[in-house]
Amino acid sequence: MSLRPLRAFRLESLVEREDMSIIVQKYGGSSVADAEKMLHVAKRIAKTRAKGHDVVVVVSAPGDTTDDLIAMAKKITELPDEREMDVLLATGEQQSIALLAIALKSMGCDAVSFTGPQVGIVTDDTHMKARILRVGDRTIREALRKGKVVIVAGFQGMNAEREITTLGRGGSDLTAVAVAAAIQADVCEFYKDVDGVFTANPNLVPNARKLKSVSYDEMLEMASAGAQVLNSRSVEFAKNYEIKIHVRSTFNEKEGTIVMKETKTMEKIVVSGVTYNKNEAKITVRAVPDRPGVAAILFSEMGKAGVNVDMIIQNIGEHGKSDISFTVDRSELKKAMLKVRKVAGDLKAGDVVADEGIAKVSVVGVGMRSHSGIAAQMFKSLAAEKVNIQMISTSEIKISVIVDEKDVAKAVKALHRKFKLDKVR
Ligand code: ASP
Ligand code: MG
Repeated sequence: MSLRPLRAFRLESLVEREDMSIIVQKYGGSSVADAEKMLHVAKRIAKTRAKGHDVVVVVSAPGDTTDDLIAMAKKITELPDEREMDVLLATGEQQSIALLAIALKSMGCDAVSFTGPQVGIVTDDTHMKARILRVGDRTIREALRKGKVVIVAGFQGMNAEREITTLGRGGSDLTAVAVAAAIQADVCEFYKDVDGVFTANPNLVPNARKLKSVSYDEMLEMASAGAQVLNSRSVEFAKNYEIKIHVRSTFNEKEGTIVMKETKTMEKIVVSGVTYNKNEAKITVRAVPDRPGVAAILFSEMGKAGVNVDMIIQNIGEHGKSDISFTVDRSELKKAMLKVRKVAGDLKAGDVVADEGIAKVSVVGVGMRSHSGIAAQMFKSLAAEKVNIQMISTSEIKISVIVDEKDVAKAVKALHRKFKLDKVR
């Protein structure tokens, strides 16, 4: 990663203009799904460029292209070769960059498209979920210097053997942040179909408020708690390189939400948001022998099977037996159950039960570090709504509970009210 504080030379710098910046803009697949949307995005980009900024655009594959490509390969064979899958999936983003460059040029805005490998995005060898090792900045800087808008394909790179790799689903976000770091961009803007990051899902809580700013850590906790705004890996990357992220709408020019380093003002706000996640399921193993090493066996088997375990509780043992419950991604429930049944059998434990009718509700805020009693307030307000808590977990800046799925709306609304999230502070 080249992190020289060198800025591209701009012709426009001869004319005094204010606030000229290097801006990376990221557009998702839905915003380039058809010609009309593509032209809308192009107009947006051209407008930013006309203000004199250096603009680098990172874009995902149009609409459902990636899903469609995966489906095509799976029609041929259940487990397609991963190296070739990367060659296939990378074509999605290559369509977007070319079409977007065509759109920009048709408007008289000079642009150039590049694939990931062309701009020197070098990754490790893990096909279909490669990690970025390096991002070159020369190609991008040279094109910027010529006054072009640079359009880079998200989600793809190449390994040391020059084979095409992809970064895992949703990986274009990561490309955008990595490119922003490499060229020392002033901001990495994520264009979304929402106005920014909200105190709660506005579809559920009508008076939810758009947040002016959140810290990287809050954004990460919100993402793991179910807020589907940004890919977690990209927020981690942004945090490590202190890249300022601006989450904003494709459809209007309002200021969105800035994701940035924590500030003193942020610490004063105890709870910044309430999130929920309906994509988890609970597994309970009953009557597990209560002796050392049992949890180690169970959860190392989950790890080996590649199952992500989120929350865990173990009841106090009685008669030498105890119950263990934990949550996994719903999409991994089947795989997990097969393993758990086997382990339970080996351990001579009791029944194994799965429950898909659960959800996780969380409150997140950096101010929790310095304020106590938030958990109690949260539990009280859930109790007042007669929402039963099945499991609890906490981090420094987050409290999560597992509740019945049908209680989600009630719980989120109650907590939003309790922590006065509709009020600007
Ligand atoms: N096109 C890829 C996907 O659908 C990458 C992305 O959209 O960020 O996962
Ligand atoms: Mg996509």
